[in-house]
Amino acid sequence: MTQVLTQQPQYKTYSLHNFKNIPQIQKLPEEVIEAIEVVAQVLPFKTNNYVVNELIDWDKAPDDPLFILNFPVREMLLPEHYKQVKEALDKGVDRATLREIVNKIRLQLNPHPAGQLQYNVPSIDGIKLRGVQHKYNETVLFFPSQGQTCHAYCSFCFRWPQFVGMDDLKFAMREVDLLIKYLQAHPEVTDLLFTGGDPMIMRTKVLKTYIEPILEANIEHLQTIRIGTKALAYWPYRFISDPDADDLLRLFERIVQSGKHLAIMAHFNHPRELEPEPVAEATRRILNTGAVIRTQSPVLNHINADSKLWETMWKKQVNMGMIPYYMFVARDTGAHHFFAIPLVKAWEIYRNAWKNVSGLGRTARGPSMSATPGKVEVLGPAQVNGKKVLALRMIQGRNPDWVDKPFFAEYDEKATWLDELKPAFSDKFFFEDELEKYVRK
Ligand SMILES: *Cc1c(COP(=O)(O)O)cnc(C)c1O
Ligand code: SF4
Repeated sequence: MTQVLTQQPQYKTYSLHNFKNIPQIQKLPEEVIEAIEVVAQVLPFKTNNYVVNELIDWDKAPDDPLFILNFPVREMLLPEHYKQVKEALDKGVDRATLREIVNKIRLQLNPHPAGQLQYNVPSIDGIKLRGVQHKYNETVLFFPSQGQTCHAYCSFCFRWPQFVGMDDLKFAMREVDLLIKYLQAHPEVTDLLFTGGDPMIMRTKVLKTYIEPILEANIEHLQTIRIGTKALAYWPYRFISDPDADDLLRLFERIVQSGKHLAIMAHFNHPRELEPEPVAEATRRILNTGAVIRTQSPVLNHINADSKLWETMWKKQVNMGMIPYYMFVARDTGAHHFFAIPLVKAWEIYRNAWKNVSGLGRTARGPSMSATPGKVEVLGPAQVNGKKVLALRMIQGRNPDWVDKPFFAEYDEKATWLDELKPAFSDKFFFEDELEKYVRK
């Protein structure tokens, strides 16, 4: 028998109003605490007692990568934005004024990158499916309304206030009916991805109100259910000893027994997140249901911009029975200036990690940008006709015919995103004219 973990700590979250109760916080310098109070007015901030006690190395805070992963630090805001918020707080402005200042800053942080809101929301019977995105043929993203928060917030992920969940089962059922209708009308869809926030924040009985009708609808072309989650890293007890953990695993089993593939898309940003014993236990329990765990993370300055770290992470994941899946490039949103690294550097990190792992770890694709035309992978620097260029390809495209065709940008050591790259050998990338058809309103 494996060790039974009965000592689950009480789940406790911390945010702006109570983070000073964290004992370890009280030992940090005053300016670090001030920065949390200022930055968290603009960027979302939430952590929990598992992250605080098991993941963060407090001797290294505020420079510890796991601290930076959850806690706002000063440099996440541009200096002028920091100053505006700090001055407003010092003056003791009223809430409405503060909100106005903060929202103005938020709007400058590209809240909905890659045209997510304008271009990817589908309709059925003339009804816009709020909570659904369909960008690539095979895969529909579904944002269940109660799954729009997380066990802790990653500082690189910018979340808008309207993403906050509504706890209403009836609303959920209404949503799922429309979703099923949509799936039935779209035979090209093989994968349904539950995403958020973190769908694993939902109680099992809520998740069931979505999953069961979908299984009962018996949609043959729907072959895979994916669940994107950070719960293995932030609250592994979700799969071990939460009151409805066993129920959740039974639900996973039912998905598998219905003939669908169940893929848990697990987010891990740092190898330390894989170390605690509860993660190993949760992983074993999930794999025992017949589900597969695939992993993904962006490559982030201050957190994981180091090839050795990725090598360690991929090796450990393979060892635990997980399949490395994606290395992403940090999105051009929120505190992008703080987390961004040049594409060339991201590629070096990827390559230097990839070349040192066995073939079973080389399932990770990337570094990949989720940009407006598609997922653009950096293949690396190359020489073409004596000219130094950056080779790229799409691993997903708004038009499926765009994928896997190598194309070239002028070599640029500083560029951190597709829109900073210039096409090499022509004045446009091959997909640009056609892209206008997809994104014109
Ligand atoms: C990444 C992504 C998917 C899934 O793509 P896969 O290559 O199948 O993993 C689907 N929709 C959107 C919008 C995505 O960004
Ligand atoms: S857990 Fe996922 S959705 Fe939630 S804040 Fe982190 S990256 Fe964003």
